[in-house]
Amino acid sequence: MRFEIQAECSETGARAGLLHTAHGIIETPVFMPVGTQATVKGVTQRDLAGELDARIILANTYHLFLRPGNQLIRQMGGLHQFMAWPRAILTDSGGFQVFSLSDLRKITDQGVLFRSHLDGDAHLFTPESTVDVQMDFGSDIMMVLDECLAYPSSHEAANHAMQRTVQWARTAYSHYTRKVEETGSLSALFPIVQGSMFPDLRRACANELLELNAHGYAIGGLSVGEPRALSLEMTEVTAPLLPKDKPRYVMGVGMPEELPEYVARGVDMMDCVLPSRNARNGYLFTSEGRVVIKQARYRDDPAPVDPKCSCYTCRTHSRAYLRHLFQASEILFSSLATLHNLQYYLDRMRQIRQSILLGTFPAYLDGLRRSAVE
Ligand SMILES: [Zn+2]
Repeated sequence: MRFEIQAECSETGARAGLLHTAHGIIETPVFMPVGTQATVKGVTQRDLAGELDARIILANTYHLFLRPGNQLIRQMGGLHQFMAWPRAILTDSGGFQVFSLSDLRKITDQGVLFRSHLDGDAHLFTPESTVDVQMDFGSDIMMVLDECLAYPSSHEAANHAMQRTVQWARTAYSHYTRKVEETGSLSALFPIVQGSMFPDLRRACANELLELNAHGYAIGGLSVGEPRALSLEMTEVTAPLLPKDKPRYVMGVGMPEELPEYVARGVDMMDCVLPSRNARNGYLFTSEGRVVIKQARYRDDPAPVDPKCSCYTCRTHSRAYLRHLFQASEILFSSLATLHNLQYYLDRMRQIRQSILLGTFPAYLDGLRRSAVE
């Protein structure tokens, strides 16, 4: 994997680049749609690649490990072939889901013991095993196992989890290096900076992880219930500590208006379930603000969801039709709404990228901030 920076904003930390992977070139900054169970809910792979032109999607190791299992996915030729997605895939380490979904988990220095939320079976994730599982998937970008705390956490607990995260990253990396030598795997591995909301811990964690000389670095432990301003502040503290010539990925953010804020702080990659989850619940992001489709005022509204959007849904259907589908709990609503919300996010990222290339990003950011205040 190779990262190439094409342009940098002289006023902010924003950069535009190209991330070369075994499954295509990704233009950054990039928003990665979330395909938890090897599917972006409600959207076909054809539309993801064609209509939306998504270059990379995210899948969740925890879910795919439990069902259908990494052995099966490997037997079916890896995740790309299994789900018929020829473009890039990033998988998380499963740590975040273990901490948020499963119960009866026990964390030791070796790893995390947990019970499946599906059938209660006990499983152990270690820094080594999560690399093996993701290599079975054939992910383009794999993440190391980390310990992610809820918000708020004490400095002591955060320090402890951060130290463990560093130790696990070292273990994962030596295992990964051996496996790459053995198998010639092209998968990259990103370590994750933790440290909760404490700048001193974020700094210490980043310094330790730099020694790994990784392909890229992630900032984790955000979007865990903290105020949004604090997530941005932690990113602002952490991003400048990471290597300039490597991609930086902030996990699990954010609202559409926050995307340029992260980019301004030097972030190249983001993912979030918001566009797809909100779509299914009838919340649509538009250039004129949020549309809550169930509202009675859309009952006989012939206009598209967003007149400025070029997605299939907006090109084809009215708000009135979408409201009808939503009220009738029709499956098609989820598909059409998700398609629109994802297009909104991806278009916004493409605009951001374009403005960085043109040298107009500060004005673009300024305009967005002003319209947010109004
Ligand atoms: Zn649209």
